[in-house]
Amino acid sequence: MILRMDKLAIELPMPKHPSPNSASAVQELLGGKFGEMSTLMNYTFQSFNFRGRKTMRPFYDLIANIAAEEYSHIELVSYTINMLLSGTMSRGSDPTKTPLQDAVGVRNHYHYIASGQTALPVDSMGTPWNGSYVFSSGNLKLDLLHNFFLECGARANKIRVYEMVDDPVAREMVGYLLVRGGVHIVAYAKAIERLSGVDVGKLLPIPDISNKRFPEAAKHEKRGLHQILFRFSKEDYGEITQIWNGTHPEDGPTLRVEQGPPEGFAPPDLPEEPQLASPVGPDLDPAFLKEVAKRVYG
Ligand code: MN
Ligand code: MN
Repeated sequence: MILRMDKLAIELPMPKHPSPNSASAVQELLGGKFGEMSTLMNYTFQSFNFRGRKTMRPFYDLIANIAAEEYSHIELVSYTINMLLSGTMSRGSDPTKTPLQDAVGVRNHYHYIASGQTALPVDSMGTPWNGSYVFSSGNLKLDLLHNFFLECGARANKIRVYEMVDDPVAREMVGYLLVRGGVHIVAYAKAIERLSGVDVGKLLPIPDISNKRFPEAAKHEKRGLHQILFRFSKEDYGEITQIWNGTHPEDGPTLRVEQGPPEGFAPPDLPEEPQLASPVGPDLDPAFLKEVAKRVYG
């Protein structure tokens, strides 16, 4: 079971220049092959399917626990998309004024036709996220290698989206996720080392650019966020300490498990989407309301 908190892992700044095409680029980090939906569903299914967990408990705990963190990442990316889309078109309920006219020229029409200017489980080209992105082989070493590869691919995609989109809301989100993804890369590398004895850490970082080149990531690393693996449960997944220990391969500080999730921030409340909604309040006919109430309550 999952316990849910109505919080975002970080505080997202309001966008400086809302942009539908920037929102489309960010969609890759949500519903792309290497997006947060993929990391979430890969680790979730691998944890459901994990056999022999009595003898391999630390590895089971690691995969299950990181799966829980990935939920908070699909939240962050979705909110970023919503914020980039919010205010991109005139908002009005008079259809004759063609309030969505500018949407004809944007990259992803689904944001305006299939949704109310909101995030969708699709990639940057509008292709729906797909269950074939989940790899769950039944072989722990193979799954861990896959997860290491997936996190490195996710990191490459994040860096490129950072290079495409300069809005502070996108960069704040990408900066934080580069740090957290970096933690997952190191965690899976350490798990592979535990199983095989190979020093995977010598490959890092992949891609070569350090997180310290990204100001929005560097500020978190200064506070030591790259040393922390959050434990997303009060009582369970405690054996992650068997894998998340020792030093960080890049800058050496001691790794530690923090008991509990990040403190979190209230999610932003964005304006309503008026284009398909009927007016409420004074515009409603009181007699009609009375009639509805009579039918509902008898
Ligand atoms: Mn993630
Ligand atoms: Mn991850």
